[in-house]
Amino acid sequence: MSLSSPRGTSDIFGEEIKYRDFIISKAKDIFKVFNFKEIITPAFEYTELFDRGIGEGTDIVQKEMYTFADKKGRSLTLRPEGTASVVRAIIENKLYAKDLPLKLFYIGNMFRYERPQKGRSREFWQVGVEVFGQSQPILDAEVIWLLNSFYKNLGFKNLKLLLNSIGCVECRPSYIKSFKEYIKPRMDMLCSDCRFRFDKSPLRIFDCKKDGCRKILEKAPKINDNLCDNCVRYFKSVKKYLDSLEIDYEIDSGMVRGFDYYSRTIFEIISLDIDSAQNALAGGGRYDYLVKEFSGPDLPAVGFAIGLDRTIIQMKKLNISVAETSKKKSTYIVTMKKDYYEYSLMVMRLLRDNNIICDLEYENKNIGPAIKKAEKLNYDYLMIIGDDEVKNNSITLKDIKKYKQYEIDLDNKNRLLEMME
Ligand code: AMP
Repeated sequence: MSLSSPRGTSDIFGEEIKYRDFIISKAKDIFKVFNFKEIITPAFEYTELFDRGIGEGTDIVQKEMYTFADKKGRSLTLRPEGTASVVRAIIENKLYAKDLPLKLFYIGNMFRYERPQKGRSREFWQVGVEVFGQSQPILDAEVIWLLNSFYKNLGFKNLKLLLNSIGCVECRPSYIKSFKEYIKPRMDMLCSDCRFRFDKSPLRIFDCKKDGCRKILEKAPKINDNLCDNCVRYFKSVKKYLDSLEIDYEIDSGMVRGFDYYSRTIFEIISLDIDSAQNALAGGGRYDYLVKEFSGPDLPAVGFAIGLDRTIIQMKKLNISVAETSKKKSTYIVTMKKDYYEYSLMVMRLLRDNNIICDLEYENKNIGPAIKKAEKLNYDYLMIIGDDEVKNNSITLKDIKKYKQYEIDLDNKNRLLEMME
Protein backbone atom coordinates (compact mmCIF):
# COMPACT_ATOMS: atom_id res chain seq x y z
CA MET A 1 0.00 0.00 0.00
CA SER A 2 1.37 3.39 -0.93
CA LEU A 3 1.75 5.82 1.92
CA SER A 4 1.47 9.00 -0.12
CA SER A 5 -1.40 11.41 0.36
CA PRO A 6 -4.39 10.66 -1.89
CA ARG A 7 -4.22 12.06 -5.43
CA GLY A 8 -5.31 15.68 -5.56
CA THR A 9 -4.60 16.36 -1.88
CA SER A 10 -1.51 17.82 -0.24
CA ASP A 11 0.06 18.44 3.15
CA ILE A 12 0.30 22.06 4.15
CA PHE A 13 3.38 23.20 6.09
CA GLY A 14 6.29 25.63 6.13
CA GLU A 15 5.99 28.58 3.72
CA GLU A 16 2.49 27.56 2.75
CA ILE A 17 1.29 28.03 6.33
CA LYS A 18 2.77 31.54 6.38
CA TYR A 19 0.76 32.45 3.28
CA ARG A 20 -2.42 30.90 4.65
CA ASP A 21 -2.09 32.64 8.01
CA PHE A 22 -1.41 35.93 6.29
CA ILE A 23 -4.40 35.65 3.96
CA ILE A 24 -6.74 34.47 6.70
CA SER A 25 -5.67 37.25 9.06
CA LYS A 26 -6.17 39.84 6.30
CA ALA A 27 -9.58 38.33 5.54
CA LYS A 28 -10.59 38.41 9.20
CA ASP A 29 -9.48 42.04 9.47
CA ILE A 30 -11.75 43.07 6.65
CA PHE A 31 -14.63 40.85 7.81
CA LYS A 32 -14.50 42.72 11.10
CA VAL A 33 -14.76 46.08 9.32
CA PHE A 34 -17.76 44.84 7.31
CA ASN A 35 -19.25 43.26 10.43
CA PHE A 36 -19.24 39.57 9.54
CA LYS A 37 -19.22 36.78 12.17
CA GLU A 38 -17.67 33.36 11.74
CA ILE A 39 -19.58 30.11 11.32
CA ILE A 40 -18.05 26.62 11.25
CA THR A 41 -20.10 23.81 9.74
CA PRO A 42 -19.31 20.07 9.42
CA ALA A 43 -16.99 18.88 6.65
CA PHE A 44 -19.64 16.35 5.60
CA GLU A 45 -23.40 16.55 5.29
CA TYR A 46 -26.26 14.34 4.17
CA THR A 47 -25.91 13.96 0.40
CA GLU A 48 -29.40 15.28 -0.23
CA LEU A 49 -28.34 18.75 0.91
CA PHE A 50 -25.96 19.12 -2.02
CA ASP A 51 -28.17 17.25 -4.52
CA ARG A 52 -30.97 19.69 -3.85
CA GLY A 53 -28.91 22.78 -3.09
CA ILE A 54 -26.31 22.75 -5.84
CA GLY A 55 -28.65 21.07 -8.32
CA GLU A 56 -28.81 17.59 -9.81
CA GLY A 57 -27.88 18.82 -13.27
CA THR A 58 -24.58 20.38 -12.16
CA ASP A 59 -21.16 18.85 -12.80
CA ILE A 60 -20.45 18.92 -9.08
CA VAL A 61 -23.42 16.73 -8.22
CA GLN A 62 -23.14 14.54 -11.32
CA LYS A 63 -19.43 13.81 -11.23
CA GLU A 64 -17.48 15.46 -8.48
CA MET A 65 -18.90 14.57 -5.09
CA TYR A 66 -17.18 12.35 -2.57
CA THR A 67 -20.23 10.38 -1.49
CA PHE A 68 -20.18 7.38 0.81
CA ALA A 69 -22.49 5.36 3.03
CA ASP A 70 -21.76 5.41 6.75
CA LYS A 71 -21.99 2.29 8.90
CA LYS A 72 -25.77 2.69 9.17
CA GLY A 73 -26.12 3.05 5.41
CA ARG A 74 -26.84 6.80 5.41
CA SER A 75 -25.54 8.61 2.35
CA LEU A 76 -23.06 11.31 3.31
CA THR A 77 -20.98 13.65 1.15
CA LEU A 78 -17.80 15.62 1.85
CA ARG A 79 -18.81 19.22 1.24
CA PRO A 80 -17.94 20.39 -2.27
CA GLU A 81 -18.72 24.03 -1.39
CA GLY A 82 -19.78 26.09 1.61
CA THR A 83 -23.09 27.78 0.82
CA ALA A 84 -25.49 24.81 1.09
CA SER A 85 -24.08 23.93 4.54
CA VAL A 86 -24.37 27.48 5.82
CA VAL A 87 -27.96 27.65 4.60
CA ARG A 88 -28.74 24.38 6.36
CA ALA A 89 -27.06 25.67 9.53
CA ILE A 90 -28.92 28.97 9.67
CA ILE A 91 -32.26 27.22 9.24
CA GLU A 92 -31.48 24.48 11.76
CA ASN A 93 -30.18 26.92 14.37
CA LYS A 94 -32.73 29.62 13.53
CA LEU A 95 -29.92 32.14 13.17
CA TYR A 96 -32.20 34.34 11.10
CA ALA A 97 -34.44 35.02 14.10
CA LYS A 98 -32.30 37.93 15.29
CA ASP A 99 -31.35 41.10 13.47
CA LEU A 100 -31.15 40.93 9.72
CA PRO A 101 -29.14 40.98 7.58
CA LEU A 102 -27.26 38.05 9.00
CA LYS A 103 -23.63 38.33 7.87
CA LEU A 104 -21.48 35.22 8.17
CA PHE A 105 -18.08 34.05 6.99
CA TYR A 106 -16.49 30.60 6.91
CA ILE A 107 -13.09 29.09 6.30
CA GLY A 108 -13.02 25.45 5.31
CA ASN A 109 -11.71 22.64 3.16
CA MET A 110 -13.85 21.57 0.22
CA PHE A 111 -13.76 18.34 -1.75
CA ARG A 112 -14.39 17.79 -5.44
CA TYR A 113 -13.44 14.83 -7.57
CA GLU A 114 -11.81 16.79 -10.37
CA ARG A 115 -8.78 16.07 -12.54
CA PRO A 116 -5.92 17.51 -10.49
CA GLN A 117 -3.63 20.10 -12.05
CA LYS A 118 -2.03 23.36 -10.96
CA GLY A 119 -4.72 25.39 -9.22
CA ARG A 120 -7.16 22.52 -9.17
CA SER A 121 -7.14 19.85 -6.50
CA ARG A 122 -9.52 17.40 -4.89
CA GLU A 123 -9.23 18.95 -1.48
CA PHE A 124 -8.91 22.74 -1.48
CA TRP A 125 -9.68 25.61 0.84
CA GLN A 126 -12.21 28.37 0.58
CA VAL A 127 -12.88 31.50 2.57
CA GLY A 128 -16.45 32.56 1.98
CA VAL A 129 -19.12 34.99 3.08
CA GLU A 130 -22.91 34.79 3.04
CA VAL A 131 -25.40 37.56 3.78
CA PHE A 132 -29.04 36.65 4.49
CA GLY A 133 -32.22 38.64 4.74
CA GLN A 134 -31.93 41.52 2.29
CA SER A 135 -32.63 41.76 -1.37
CA GLN A 136 -31.23 45.14 -2.20
CA PRO A 137 -28.74 45.85 -4.95
CA ILE A 138 -26.60 47.89 -2.56
CA LEU A 139 -25.86 44.67 -0.67
CA ASP A 140 -24.62 42.95 -3.84
CA ALA A 141 -22.33 45.93 -4.37
CA GLU A 142 -21.14 45.83 -0.76
CA VAL A 143 -20.28 42.14 -0.98
CA ILE A 144 -18.35 42.74 -4.20
CA TRP A 145 -16.65 45.70 -2.54
CA LEU A 146 -15.58 43.44 0.32
CA LEU A 147 -14.11 40.92 -2.12
CA ASN A 148 -12.40 43.65 -4.08
CA SER A 149 -10.91 45.24 -0.93
CA PHE A 150 -9.68 41.86 0.26
CA TYR A 151 -7.57 41.40 -2.87
CA LYS A 152 -6.47 45.03 -2.87
CA ASN A 153 -5.31 44.75 0.75
CA LEU A 154 -3.30 41.66 -0.16
CA GLY A 155 -1.50 43.68 -2.81
CA PHE A 156 -3.09 42.22 -5.96
CA LYS A 157 -3.31 44.35 -9.07
CA ASN A 158 -4.07 42.83 -12.45
CA LEU A 159 -7.51 41.46 -11.53
CA LYS A 160 -10.74 41.62 -13.46
CA LEU A 161 -14.23 41.54 -12.01
CA LEU A 162 -16.69 39.75 -14.28
CA LEU A 163 -20.34 40.51 -13.72
CA ASN A 164 -23.62 39.18 -15.04
CA SER A 165 -27.26 38.85 -14.14
CA ILE A 166 -29.02 35.52 -14.65
CA GLY A 167 -32.51 36.75 -13.87
CA CYS A 168 -35.18 35.61 -11.46
CA VAL A 169 -38.17 33.23 -11.31
CA GLU A 170 -40.12 35.76 -13.38
CA CYS A 171 -37.85 36.02 -16.39
CA ARG A 172 -35.83 32.83 -16.39
CA PRO A 173 -38.55 30.36 -17.51
CA SER A 174 -39.31 32.28 -20.72
CA TYR A 175 -35.60 32.73 -21.39
CA ILE A 176 -34.97 28.99 -20.86
CA LYS A 177 -37.76 28.29 -23.33
CA SER A 178 -36.17 30.40 -26.06
CA PHE A 179 -32.71 29.05 -25.23
CA LYS A 180 -33.97 25.49 -25.61
CA GLU A 181 -35.64 26.39 -28.87
CA TYR A 182 -32.28 27.65 -30.12
CA ILE A 183 -30.41 24.56 -28.91
CA LYS A 184 -32.92 21.89 -30.00
CA PRO A 185 -32.05 21.83 -33.73
CA ARG A 186 -28.35 21.79 -32.78
CA MET A 187 -28.62 19.00 -30.20
CA ASP A 188 -26.55 16.47 -32.14
CA MET A 189 -23.64 18.95 -32.19
CA LEU A 190 -23.56 19.08 -28.38
CA CYS A 191 -21.39 16.81 -26.24
CA SER A 192 -23.14 14.01 -24.34
CA ASP A 193 -22.85 15.95 -21.05
CA CYS A 194 -24.62 18.94 -22.58
CA ARG A 195 -27.37 16.76 -24.00
CA PHE A 196 -27.99 15.57 -20.46
CA ARG A 197 -27.84 19.16 -19.19
CA PHE A 198 -30.41 20.18 -21.80
CA ASP A 199 -33.06 18.18 -19.94
CA LYS A 200 -31.87 18.56 -16.36
CA SER A 201 -30.57 22.10 -16.17
CA PRO A 202 -30.12 23.85 -19.54
CA LEU A 203 -28.25 26.89 -18.20
CA ARG A 204 -25.43 24.51 -17.23
CA ILE A 205 -24.62 24.14 -20.95
CA PHE A 206 -22.90 27.51 -20.53
CA ASP A 207 -20.47 25.85 -18.08
CA CYS A 208 -19.18 23.51 -20.82
CA LYS A 209 -15.55 24.05 -21.80
CA LYS A 210 -15.69 21.96 -25.00
CA ASP A 211 -14.99 23.90 -28.20
CA GLY A 212 -17.97 22.47 -30.10
CA CYS A 213 -20.44 23.47 -27.41
CA ARG A 214 -18.82 26.87 -26.91
CA LYS A 215 -19.19 27.56 -30.62
CA ILE A 216 -22.92 26.85 -30.48
CA LEU A 217 -23.26 29.07 -27.42
CA GLU A 218 -21.68 32.05 -29.17
CA LYS A 219 -24.88 32.82 -31.06
CA ALA A 220 -27.31 31.57 -28.41
CA PRO A 221 -29.68 34.04 -26.77
CA LYS A 222 -28.18 35.29 -23.50
CA ILE A 223 -30.12 35.58 -20.28
CA ASN A 224 -28.73 39.06 -19.71
CA ASP A 225 -30.56 40.30 -22.82
CA ASN A 226 -33.82 38.71 -21.67
CA LEU A 227 -34.26 40.02 -18.15
CA CYS A 228 -37.60 41.22 -16.80
CA ASP A 229 -37.97 44.90 -15.91
CA ASN A 230 -37.32 44.30 -12.22
CA CYS A 231 -34.10 42.42 -12.93
CA VAL A 232 -32.95 45.07 -15.41
CA ARG A 233 -33.56 47.75 -12.79
CA TYR A 234 -31.87 45.70 -10.10
CA PHE A 235 -28.78 45.05 -12.22
CA LYS A 236 -28.60 48.70 -13.20
CA SER A 237 -28.52 49.67 -9.53
CA VAL A 238 -25.79 47.15 -8.73
CA LYS A 239 -23.67 48.66 -11.51
CA LYS A 240 -24.46 52.18 -10.34
CA TYR A 241 -23.27 51.38 -6.80
CA LEU A 242 -20.13 49.73 -8.12
CA ASP A 243 -19.47 52.85 -10.17
CA SER A 244 -19.79 55.03 -7.11
CA LEU A 245 -17.37 52.73 -5.29
CA GLU A 246 -15.03 53.12 -8.29
CA ILE A 247 -14.90 49.36 -8.79
CA ASP A 248 -14.26 48.37 -12.39
CA TYR A 249 -16.16 45.46 -13.88
CA GLU A 250 -16.78 43.79 -17.19
CA ILE A 251 -20.13 42.32 -18.15
CA ASP A 252 -19.74 38.69 -19.19
CA SER A 253 -23.14 37.76 -20.59
CA GLY A 254 -22.12 34.13 -21.13
CA MET A 255 -21.15 33.59 -17.51
CA VAL A 256 -23.61 31.47 -15.49
CA ARG A 257 -21.37 29.90 -12.76
CA GLY A 258 -21.70 26.22 -11.97
CA PHE A 259 -24.46 26.13 -9.35
CA ASP A 260 -28.22 26.01 -9.83
CA TYR A 261 -29.04 28.15 -6.82
CA TYR A 262 -27.95 31.53 -8.20
CA SER A 263 -30.37 34.25 -9.23
CA ARG A 264 -29.80 37.77 -10.50
CA THR A 265 -26.27 39.07 -9.82
CA ILE A 266 -23.32 36.70 -10.26
CA PHE A 267 -19.63 37.62 -10.33
CA GLU A 268 -16.15 36.24 -10.55
CA ILE A 269 -12.67 37.62 -9.91
CA ILE A 270 -10.14 36.45 -12.45
CA SER A 271 -6.41 37.07 -12.58
CA LEU A 272 -5.13 38.49 -15.84
CA ASP A 273 -1.69 37.06 -14.98
CA ILE A 274 -2.93 33.47 -15.23
CA ASP A 275 -3.13 32.07 -18.70
CA SER A 276 -5.30 29.03 -18.05
CA ALA A 277 -8.80 27.88 -17.23
CA GLN A 278 -7.81 28.06 -13.56
CA ASN A 279 -7.69 31.87 -13.63
CA ALA A 280 -10.76 32.34 -11.40
CA LEU A 281 -9.65 33.23 -7.89
CA ALA A 282 -13.07 33.79 -6.37
CA GLY A 283 -16.70 33.81 -7.33
CA GLY A 284 -20.15 34.32 -5.98
CA GLY A 285 -23.60 35.70 -6.46
CA ARG A 286 -27.10 36.17 -5.21
CA TYR A 287 -29.30 33.21 -4.32
CA ASP A 288 -32.73 34.44 -3.29
CA TYR A 289 -34.60 31.13 -3.27
CA LEU A 290 -32.29 28.61 -1.64
CA VAL A 291 -33.28 29.17 2.00
CA LYS A 292 -36.94 28.80 1.12
CA GLU A 293 -36.27 25.71 -0.98
CA PHE A 294 -34.81 24.11 2.13
CA SER A 295 -38.07 24.86 3.97
CA GLY A 296 -36.62 27.90 5.69
CA PRO A 297 -38.13 31.39 5.68
CA ASP A 298 -38.16 33.59 2.62
CA LEU A 299 -34.63 34.92 3.02
CA PRO A 300 -32.88 36.34 -0.01
CA ALA A 301 -29.11 35.99 0.15
CA VAL A 302 -25.83 36.85 -1.52
CA GLY A 303 -22.29 35.54 -1.00
CA PHE A 304 -18.96 34.51 -2.49
CA ALA A 305 -16.10 32.07 -2.02
CA ILE A 306 -12.41 32.86 -2.34
CA GLY A 307 -10.13 30.01 -3.41
CA LEU A 308 -7.33 30.09 -0.87
CA ASP A 309 -5.01 27.76 -2.80
CA ARG A 310 -5.22 29.69 -6.05
CA THR A 311 -4.79 32.97 -4.20
CA ILE A 312 -1.56 31.63 -2.65
CA ILE A 313 -0.23 30.40 -6.00
CA GLN A 314 -0.84 33.83 -7.42
CA MET A 315 0.71 35.68 -4.48
CA LYS A 316 3.89 33.63 -4.87
CA LYS A 317 3.99 34.32 -8.58
CA LEU A 318 3.59 38.05 -7.99
CA ASN A 319 6.20 38.01 -5.20
CA ILE A 320 3.74 39.43 -2.71
CA SER A 321 5.48 39.15 0.63
CA VAL A 322 3.82 37.88 3.76
CA ALA A 323 4.84 40.02 6.70
CA GLU A 324 5.80 38.40 9.98
CA THR A 325 2.92 38.61 12.42
CA SER A 326 5.18 39.16 15.44
CA LYS A 327 7.41 42.21 15.33
CA LYS A 328 9.07 41.33 18.62
CA LYS A 329 12.57 39.90 18.53
CA SER A 330 13.09 36.18 18.87
CA THR A 331 15.71 34.25 20.77
CA TYR A 332 17.37 30.87 20.60
CA ILE A 333 18.52 29.51 23.94
CA VAL A 334 21.52 27.33 24.61
CA THR A 335 22.36 25.91 28.03
CA MET A 336 25.89 24.76 28.76
CA LYS A 337 24.60 21.78 30.76
CA LYS A 338 21.38 19.80 30.82
CA ASP A 339 21.24 20.61 34.54
CA TYR A 340 20.33 24.14 33.55
CA TYR A 341 17.13 23.14 31.77
CA GLU A 342 15.02 24.15 34.76
CA TYR A 343 16.67 27.55 34.79
CA SER A 344 16.03 27.87 31.06
CA LEU A 345 12.38 26.91 31.58
CA MET A 346 12.02 29.83 33.99
CA VAL A 347 13.40 32.20 31.32
CA MET A 348 11.35 30.63 28.52
CA ARG A 349 8.22 31.05 30.58
CA LEU A 350 8.95 34.72 31.08
CA LEU A 351 9.46 35.14 27.32
CA ARG A 352 6.53 33.07 26.11
CA ASP A 353 4.15 34.63 28.63
CA ASN A 354 5.07 37.91 26.96
CA ASN A 355 4.48 36.57 23.42
CA ILE A 356 8.16 36.45 22.59
CA ILE A 357 9.22 33.66 20.26
CA CYS A 358 11.96 31.48 21.78
CA ASP A 359 13.21 27.94 21.50
CA LEU A 360 15.75 25.74 23.22
CA GLU A 361 18.74 24.04 21.62
CA TYR A 362 18.53 20.38 22.66
CA GLU A 363 21.65 18.97 20.97
CA ASN A 364 24.62 21.32 21.12
CA LYS A 365 26.17 22.48 24.32
CA ASN A 366 28.69 24.64 22.47
CA ILE A 367 28.18 28.25 21.58
CA GLY A 368 29.72 28.15 18.06
CA PRO A 369 27.33 25.60 16.53
CA ALA A 370 24.41 27.09 18.48
CA ILE A 371 25.05 30.53 16.93
CA LYS A 372 25.19 28.97 13.46
CA LYS A 373 21.89 27.23 14.05
CA ALA A 374 20.23 30.35 15.46
CA GLU A 375 21.45 32.28 12.42
CA LYS A 376 20.12 29.64 10.06
CA LEU A 377 16.74 29.65 11.79
CA ASN A 378 16.66 33.45 11.56
CA TYR A 379 16.59 34.25 15.28
CA ASP A 380 17.56 37.73 16.47
CA TYR A 381 19.39 36.61 19.61
CA LEU A 382 21.24 33.67 21.03
CA MET A 383 20.69 33.41 24.78
CA ILE A 384 23.44 31.67 26.73
CA ILE A 385 22.87 30.01 30.06
CA GLY A 386 26.10 28.74 31.62
CA ASP A 387 27.77 28.48 35.04
CA ASP A 388 28.24 32.23 35.53
CA GLU A 389 24.73 33.12 34.44
CA VAL A 390 23.11 30.63 36.79
CA LYS A 391 25.35 31.76 39.66
CA ASN A 392 24.54 35.45 39.04
CA ASN A 393 20.83 34.94 38.21
CA SER A 394 21.42 36.41 34.78
CA ILE A 395 21.54 35.49 31.11
CA THR A 396 23.87 36.47 28.28
CA LEU A 397 22.25 37.71 25.11
CA LYS A 398 24.16 37.77 21.82
CA ASP A 399 22.68 39.93 19.09
CA ILE A 400 23.28 37.72 16.07
CA LYS A 401 22.89 40.43 13.47
CA LYS A 402 24.81 43.18 15.27
CA TYR A 403 27.51 40.96 16.84
CA LYS A 404 26.89 42.57 20.22
CA GLN A 405 26.66 40.89 23.59
CA TYR A 406 24.71 41.86 26.73
CA GLU A 407 24.75 40.56 30.27
CA ILE A 408 21.22 40.88 31.72
CA ASP A 409 20.39 40.58 35.39
CA LEU A 410 17.13 38.66 35.78
CA ASP A 411 16.25 40.59 38.94
CA ASN A 412 15.38 43.26 36.42
CA LYS A 413 13.05 41.31 34.11
CA ASN A 414 11.87 44.44 32.33
CA ARG A 415 15.32 45.00 30.91
CA LEU A 416 15.15 41.61 29.17
CA LEU A 417 11.63 42.30 27.88
CA GLU A 418 12.72 45.72 26.59
CA MET A 419 15.56 44.07 24.67
CA MET A 420 12.94 42.02 22.85
CA GLU A 421 10.92 45.01 21.65
P1 AMP B 1 -16.71 27.89 -6.84
O1 AMP B 1 -17.06 27.35 -5.48
O2 AMP B 1 -16.69 26.83 -7.89
O3 AMP B 1 -17.49 29.10 -7.20
O4 AMP B 1 -15.18 28.35 -6.75
C1 AMP B 1 -14.75 29.48 -6.02
C2 AMP B 1 -13.25 29.47 -6.03
O5 AMP B 1 -12.77 28.30 -5.36
C3 AMP B 1 -12.62 29.37 -7.41
O6 AMP B 1 -12.53 30.64 -8.00
C4 AMP B 1 -11.27 28.77 -7.10
O7 AMP B 1 -10.35 29.75 -6.66
C5 AMP B 1 -11.57 27.85 -5.95
N1 AMP B 1 -11.72 26.45 -6.43
C6 AMP B 1 -12.81 25.86 -6.94
N2 AMP B 1 -12.56 24.57 -7.27
C7 AMP B 1 -11.27 24.35 -6.95
C8 AMP B 1 -10.39 23.21 -7.03
N3 AMP B 1 -10.82 22.04 -7.49
N4 AMP B 1 -9.10 23.35 -6.62
C9 AMP B 1 -8.66 24.54 -6.13
N5 AMP B 1 -9.43 25.63 -6.02
C10 AMP B 1 -10.72 25.55 -6.42
